[in-house]
Amino acid sequence: MTEIRMFKPAMTIRASDFELVSVFGFRISDLLRSSSFLLVFLLLLSGSAAAADNIGILGSKPKWDVLEHYQRTITHDQFTHLINDVYCTHGIPDDLIRIDDNSAQILTSQDGHGVFKLEFAPDEKSQRPVPRLWRPAKSLPPAKPNKPLAGLRIALDPGHLGGRWAKMEERWFQVGDSKPVTEGDLTLRVSRMLAPRLRKLGATVLFVRNSTQPTTPKRPDDFRELAKKILIKNGVPRPRDQVLNPLDPAKEGTVHWQSEMLFYRYSEIRRRAVLVNSKLHPDLVVCLHFNAEGWGDPANPTLIDTNHLHLLVNGSYLQDELDLDDERFEMIRRLLSRAYDEELPIADAVAISMAKATGLPAYQYPTTQTTTKVGTSGYVYARNLLATRLYRCPVVYCEPYVMNSKDAFARIEAGDYDDTKEINGVQRQSIFREYADSVAEGLREYYTKIRCGAGQ
Ligand SMILES: [Zn+2]
Repeated sequence: MTEIRMFKPAMTIRASDFELVSVFGFRISDLLRSSSFLLVFLLLLSGSAAAADNIGILGSKPKWDVLEHYQRTITHDQFTHLINDVYCTHGIPDDLIRIDDNSAQILTSQDGHGVFKLEFAPDEKSQRPVPRLWRPAKSLPPAKPNKPLAGLRIALDPGHLGGRWAKMEERWFQVGDSKPVTEGDLTLRVSRMLAPRLRKLGATVLFVRNSTQPTTPKRPDDFRELAKKILIKNGVPRPRDQVLNPLDPAKEGTVHWQSEMLFYRYSEIRRRAVLVNSKLHPDLVVCLHFNAEGWGDPANPTLIDTNHLHLLVNGSYLQDELDLDDERFEMIRRLLSRAYDEELPIADAVAISMAKATGLPAYQYPTTQTTTKVGTSGYVYARNLLATRLYRCPVVYCEPYVMNSKDAFARIEAGDYDDTKEINGVQRQSIFREYADSVAEGLREYYTKIRCGAGQ
């Protein structure tokens, strides 16, 4: 990695690690495109890896050897389809991945110029089985119509943290003296309502987070040195320590803000990935979020008329992400696991069910720079988020409801209740039940179709 590449303006934004284009897209990315600090490769993994390693934040050196297990599990046409239409939709430089008739050669390290050679299966008949710990619906035994999720392990991942952490994560706003809206508490609430619905359909339900507390044992103070190094490396030679106030326009340039983000985003999500991959071993992870549009001052937020829905699956890697050795490896590993073949139809089924229940229109990203529309429902995008990339199984990432829309805000404030209530002149179900019911219904439909025979 050269200095020049590090400071190329496009390298300064890792939009894919921000889940809310609409919140962060305006503030952070615009700022960072010009000032370049949030950036992000570093280097300083746990002290052991060489400083020159071309690795994402808090990432670890890729183990390319494990991909040997995927030799001849995929044909040339299947591989190029996934590369062109899902993972590398913004193009792929020849020096990183080269594809010929019989194999793909993938650069393993920007420094050493090593290459991993993946041999294709000559045709579908001679394909070797894909090694994986999770089970696609097709591989599960038939199920009774009232238990279409029987035997399935589903992990629920309520996005963000709750309680006192919500302000730090900037997932907190308050209108007047009403109850503050905190995304991490809302997502936990929905997850706890979704769990019994899925169990009733036969699933084993696991929680990636089931309290308001972080799963990572680290705290922001653990990242102060790393935060300072990142800032210095990215053109802030003497970074300020503290944020002046929540609207401080230069807050991203402070050690305080950066170390908090290293804690609640990078450390927290990487820790969740360890839990998912080495302890929970689910067949599917459902990530639950509420969306938002920029609300300005969190103590005096802007409420808007816009409200929408979308779901995400992993894909649509940016050039700058592919340049990092660990992300390139993680992308190829994910591609070869064929998680996409399973997560896309699940996301479509859940999207259709949620659209029907909520009546929300599909979100249209203001830019196609970070996302690619996929599937058939019109609500699903491929995007490279930390969670969708690192959890090694199909992941469906739900983004319904704009929390600071007038409608969603009123429904959140109304809390949970039986039957319906009039909200802004319309009889509505509780927003929490609507969310939980519609996700469960989408999963019921998908697994019923495959395991209980069509039309049941
Ligand atoms: Zn979220």
